[in-house]
Amino acid sequence: MSDTPKPPMRPATLAAQAAGAIDGETAGVVPAVHMATTFLRGADYAPLNGDNIYLRSHNENTRVAERLLSALEGAAETLLFPSGMAAVAAVFRTVPTGGAVVVQRQIYWGTTAWIRDFCERRQITLHEVEASDAAALAAVCAEHRPTLVWVETPSNPWLRITDVAGAAQIAHNVGAALVVDSTAASPVLSQPLALGADIVMHSATKGINGHSDVLAGSLSVRDHDRPMWQAIRADRDMAGAVLGPMEAWLLTRGMRTLPLRMREMSGNAMRLAEFLSDHPNVETVLYPGLSDHPGHEIARQQMKGGFGGLLSFVVKGEAQAALRAVGRLQLFHRATSLGGVESLVEHRHTIEPHTGIPEGLLRLSVGIEDADDLIADLGQALGQ
Ligand code: PLP
Repeated sequence: MSDTPKPPMRPATLAAQAAGAIDGETAGVVPAVHMATTFLRGADYAPLNGDNIYLRSHNENTRVAERLLSALEGAAETLLFPSGMAAVAAVFRTVPTGGAVVVQRQIYWGTTAWIRDFCERRQITLHEVEASDAAALAAVCAEHRPTLVWVETPSNPWLRITDVAGAAQIAHNVGAALVVDSTAASPVLSQPLALGADIVMHSATKGINGHSDVLAGSLSVRDHDRPMWQAIRADRDMAGAVLGPMEAWLLTRGMRTLPLRMREMSGNAMRLAEFLSDHPNVETVLYPGLSDHPGHEIARQQMKGGFGGLLSFVVKGEAQAALRAVGRLQLFHRATSLGGVESLVEHRHTIEPHTGIPEGLLRLSVGIEDADDLIADLGQALGQ
């Protein structure tokens, strides 16, 4: 890397050039993978490179990916984890035993299920609230004075939109930290830290990696001096929830095309949402890009350049009709997860039947295929 200061870079440039990461040793234009788990010391027993002693604490490939993610997110610091859930757990482990937390209702089911179990084991009082309703969020926070408020926007699979700036004010009024799961938006479409959130979390398994071949999670912070962040950093080091070098390297490679992919996925999802809205066999479409979505105005303000690739819709005729349509789809893969370049479809009610998900709801993760092909596939599956 040259020492000449670089001009300020916009997200597409930062991502394409991996925030300046190269292989300093060979002058390769992409960084090398460093697999060593331990590093040499000299005859005086001093480390030959003070930045590298043992892989659990010092992983160059992770540092490269973290720097890029921090630059994209506008964060003071980012920490990567071996899954999104490991990142969720790292945050909740900082809540004192006997404390109180407020968590958004009807978010990703894995997050809810783990938090409920964890809070019970640690005697933490958990208050679940519909956080897209600012008055309800404010009332719960004022009554229970939590140390942590957790929201997910857009939420999976309901596509509810929480006003991050408003939620930050509500949380801060009672001395709580606001953490935002921004997985469905990615750092390209939304930057919760700039809106007042204290920490932003991603399942980097999704859009950030984008190729359905890496499991990873991230936390990015606005102020790295806060004790909660120091505790998270120390816990990752000591408890060892770290990402391997190969996964970190793949994540950096995935992020190079993140702005491009998010733009394409958002454009495709918007086209599909419009198509489905007009379809006679569709009851409801949940997509924040639609002007009649209850969170549309807020989404327009806090998401830039698109509304993401996550979209749910309810088929008329309940589970039977929804499953019939899913079975007929030929391009959409029937699989869980989201944010990859290939489109996926999921019948969430089959997976989580007791959580209030409508039986006819299908969740799409819209990829970067040609939108006309995706529309034709949905059309034939829904019967048109
Ligand atoms: N948050 C959201 C919104 C998710 O959709 C997921 C996974 O689907 C997670 C967190 C958990 O991430 P991971 O599967 O990488 O552990």
